[in-house]
Amino acid sequence: MSYHVHQDPQRRPVRALCSLCGRELTEGESCWRINGAVICPDCLPLWARRDYAGHHCVCGEEDAP
Ligand SMILES: [Zn+2]
Repeated sequence: MSYHVHQDPQRRPVRALCSLCGRELTEGESCWRINGAVICPDCLPLWARRDYAGHHCVCGEEDAP
């Protein structure tokens, strides 16, 4: 994973990195801490799909033979 350090004084401090995409999460940004992982808003749907994979179903298939 490459990590770029910017020397921009206007930049808000990075508080965490997304555990899935590695995106920098700066102070004041929304994130989700789930079981020790940090998830950014972009990755939350992906995480939710993965986390609830065991509950996945296709409508109508429950009744298939
Ligand atoms: Zn992410």
